[in-house]
Amino acid sequence: MSIPFWGGIHPHDEKSATAGVSSRPLAPPSQVVIPMSLHIGAPCAPTVKVGDTVKMGQKIGDSEAPVSAPIHASVSGKVVAVEPRLHPNGSKVMSVVIENDGLDALDANIVPHKEFLDNPGELIRIIREAGIVGMGGATFPTAFKITSSLNKVDTVIINAAECEPFITSDHRTMLEHSDEVIEGIRILRKIFGRPLAYVGIEKNKPDAISLLSEKSGNDIKIVPLRTRYPQGAEKQLIQSITGREVPPGGLPADVKCVVFNLFTAYSVYRAVYEGMPAIERVVTVAGDCVAAPGNFICRIGTPIENVFNAAGGFKTQPSKILMGGPMMGNAQFDLSAPVIKGTNALLAFSGKEDKTVENPTCIRCGKCAEVCPMRLVPMYMHMYERKNDLEYLEKLHVTDCIECGACTYICPGRLHLTQSFRTGKAKLNAEKARKQAAEKAAKEAENK
Ligand code: SF4
Ligand code: SF4
Repeated sequence: MSIPFWGGIHPHDEKSATAGVSSRPLAPPSQVVIPMSLHIGAPCAPTVKVGDTVKMGQKIGDSEAPVSAPIHASVSGKVVAVEPRLHPNGSKVMSVVIENDGLDALDANIVPHKEFLDNPGELIRIIREAGIVGMGGATFPTAFKITSSLNKVDTVIINAAECEPFITSDHRTMLEHSDEVIEGIRILRKIFGRPLAYVGIEKNKPDAISLLSEKSGNDIKIVPLRTRYPQGAEKQLIQSITGREVPPGGLPADVKCVVFNLFTAYSVYRAVYEGMPAIERVVTVAGDCVAAPGNFICRIGTPIENVFNAAGGFKTQPSKILMGGPMMGNAQFDLSAPVIKGTNALLAFSGKEDKTVENPTCIRCGKCAEVCPMRLVPMYMHMYERKNDLEYLEKLHVTDCIECGACTYICPGRLHLTQSFRTGKAKLNAEKARKQAAEKAAKEAENK
């Protein structure tokens, strides 16, 4: 039985248009643009140059930094450019552009690694070399998460809550690859010394709950979770499944837990059993503007325009396009931006959902504090961010805000609360960096 977390909201899940439709492979594009930053942490440096011929699955970027993950070619062909290109985060990022030769010629290094199934050290190396990151959108390098949690955890949790409206890519993966997902979870258990593993799935996916319950043994427990946003947020998931509360500013390992996304577990299976690195992912394409919503298996680097075209294009002109869900997704302004490892959804909406008003005003209803899963006071955080009072903003624990968007969703005054907390955190970081630089300069002056 799951334990309810504090707060949260229950938006209409809007999943019916895609949940029952099988995922379809999307034809690889004639050209892929693969950014050298597909993860949180240090970007990779390209390991190929213009004119090189590359094979599918070949490593094309790497970094020696501990928090990073290598990057691989998602098609075979010729490198035609290594230059800054548009990233879905809106900036220009060094990218490798590959002209697809249409052959999908596999790199010779793509071989199964089943002989290492009982060797945790080798399994971690395979996961790192496969470039696996938190595939639910967080994109934290998985091998680093594992090594920094080793010997600290007694529980492995798989996040299959998929609590954001519209998104069904993990749901389809559970239905279409249940055996592989279970095996991927077993590999993760082995690395951590075989602790009990839990798979948290919201109750609005009864078919996935029953299929995984049938396939898993005593080592993996399937936990049906209350359908409530943000059930899939790491801290809320841990609390719902184990009853343990991650302390403010703390990490899951502080309560002996480690959490992996469902698609990450599937990617671990593919890396070990097939030798396949993270070069594709399932993407939900939906929203009221999309002609034929569905889930598509996309190569990393595919322009998002191709993905929308595969879903029949737009039946009405969208006013908002998002990569990710409606609560936490990033707005996209250029359809040439590529699919990246954390792209679980592409959504296109007309103006109907637009809730902006000319003069957003707080009416002191307190609803934002009622729904905040981190027990924060969004109305005051917003007020002090607007006043630029960083000291008070920090006292109100703005850094604990997980940017779930629940307060913004519920706010009748239509305040841009989450956006102001993102800005507030950036201001605090800038202020900390400024203070550190000033202290360093003062010390240097003293030592002269
Ligand atoms: S929900 Fe909006 S209007 Fe209500 S107290 Fe919070 S900020 Fe103010
Ligand atoms: S966005 Fe931040 S402040 Fe708002 S509900 Fe989520 S955690 Fe709370």
